[in-house]
Amino acid sequence: MTVHDVDILMIGAGPSNLALAVALEECGSPGAAAGALILEQHDDVKWQRNLLLPWARSQVSYVKDLVTLRNPRSRFSFLNFLHERGELDEFVNLGTFNPFRWQLSTYQQWVADTLDHVQVRYGVGAERILPVHSEDATVVGFAVSLSNGDTVICRDLVFGAGRDAFVPEMFRGLPAERVVHSTEYGSRIGAATGLARPGLPLRPVVIGGAQSAAEMFMALHQDAPGSSPAMLLRSIGLKDYQTSKFVNELFFPSFVDDFFAMSAQARAKVLGEMHLTNYAGLAPPFLDELYTMIYRQRMLGQPVSAVRALTEVIGARVESVPGGEEVVLDVRDLRTDGIEQVRCDALFLGTGFDPRMPAMVRRLAEAVDLPELTVNRNYRADLGAGAKGALYLQGVNEATHGISDSLISVLAQRSADIARDILDRRAADLSAVAVPA
Ligand SMILES: Cc1cc2nc3c(=O)[nH]c(=O)nc-3n(C[C@H](O)[C@H](O)[C@H](O)COP(=O)(O)OP(=O)(O)OC[C@H]3O[C@@H](n4cnc5c(N)ncnc54)[C@H](O)[C@@H]3O)c2cc1C
Repeated sequence: MTVHDVDILMIGAGPSNLALAVALEECGSPGAAAGALILEQHDDVKWQRNLLLPWARSQVSYVKDLVTLRNPRSRFSFLNFLHERGELDEFVNLGTFNPFRWQLSTYQQWVADTLDHVQVRYGVGAERILPVHSEDATVVGFAVSLSNGDTVICRDLVFGAGRDAFVPEMFRGLPAERVVHSTEYGSRIGAATGLARPGLPLRPVVIGGAQSAAEMFMALHQDAPGSSPAMLLRSIGLKDYQTSKFVNELFFPSFVDDFFAMSAQARAKVLGEMHLTNYAGLAPPFLDELYTMIYRQRMLGQPVSAVRALTEVIGARVESVPGGEEVVLDVRDLRTDGIEQVRCDALFLGTGFDPRMPAMVRRLAEAVDLPELTVNRNYRADLGAGAKGALYLQGVNEATHGISDSLISVLAQRSADIARDILDRRAADLSAVAVPA
């Protein structure tokens, strides 16, 4: 077992920590960047690795890349990435603000590859975080155990590992190989197609009515040829997400201040109303494509897919059938209250993310003896008076920082807030030990 020491450890090479790496590189204090390490569990950077579908697009403008809204002159911008690859003319000619997801993913890998000071270590996952205490019980840093048995000791820790997948209770008892969450789609669809009954096409059922569910539904038509994908959703039908320019102002980085200053009641009201701007709907052009596909099937007399609205799954189990087993769903038709069974080979869950703090953060809260971890405006968790080590949480503070917290929209600014907080704390330490003249 090897123990490494770093000043700033970032868990996860997703957009959040890559944006912070850029902010540290550009903060005017190269020492801060040189003391920083990003850990990534995979061997490379891939944005939404398991839904990196060739036709999927970013839902926000490329101007909201990792840096431009903070520093439009940065060499780490999406436009400079295209320029360096000689792809700017073609992109401009496409006439879109919404690049393909794979293109933004390649951009993020390029950012990671071109950092001057911040190190990125691939192929090692963080498994457990424990606080490091001084003799007087002050938190002075963290010890992070890695999947390869090593430990990294750091003073400041930045969590940017994304949110935990949410699997509704009723599906947790099913055989794991028959339940695929959207965060696993790409790596498990191959094996899932092998779950079909001998000589018959796969019967896939997608649960959910938002973007991830709809993307899996669309992709299954190509990935499981001959199958008849069905999509079950409780709501009245697939909807566009709201795109009003007025409402979109609530995704401005400056709105984070307004939101943070609100009462708990006001925050809950705003979050409730903003649900339709992100979670409960589909990107309008994609919704059109989906509808057109189903229209084509119907008009050509080849209806293979079914989108069943007003349909609620109320139970799930496996039953044996000749040659294997199948999943049986008890499904309520919300129009009639009638209950029927839907039989399938594999379930694809577009059921989103656990709204709680990720499990790794909750375990750390227990280790520091706090019921939960809450962050201040600068995303720093309250670890008690006098704490010398700091924990920053990225992408999991929707309740306090607003709906854009889990999105790319605020990354450029949020990373500047965190970088400034780190530098301010370093400066405060130096002035505390300075010997008066
Ligand atoms: C399908 C999908 C599409 C989306 N599209 C958009 C969009 O178009 N626009 C938008 O603004 N937002 C979008 N989002 C929201 C998304 O949350 C953000 O875009 C963004 O990915 C959040 O970045 P992040 O770095 O916080 O987390 P993530 O992107 O989840 O990255 C986390 C990284 O941490 C790594 N990691 C996880 N655990 C560990 C560990 N224990 N040790 C080491 N590494 C670890 C992961 O491998 C990953 O690389 C989308 C979300 C989904 C699910």
